[in-house]
Amino acid sequence: MSLSTPSQFAPVRSAVHCRLTCVCCSRTYEFSSDLITDLSRHQTVLQGYQLLEQQLRLSGICPECQTD
Ligand SMILES: [Zn+2]
Repeated sequence: MSLSTPSQFAPVRSAVHCRLTCVCCSRTYEFSSDLITDLSRHQTVLQGYQLLEQQLRLSGICPECQTD
């Protein structure tokens, strides 16, 4: 007997939208992560803000540009 993957039953949560941009070629990767959601939530509570949007902008040098 096989078990179905539980991923499709995962509850929808407010993930943080992350954007990673290479400073050399401007290539951008976008992804979502809910690892930071808890951090943002705690900061929001402490500062008394109601969080409307969660974004994280990252910059760096991609592996291809590092080899040049
Ligand atoms: Zn690059």
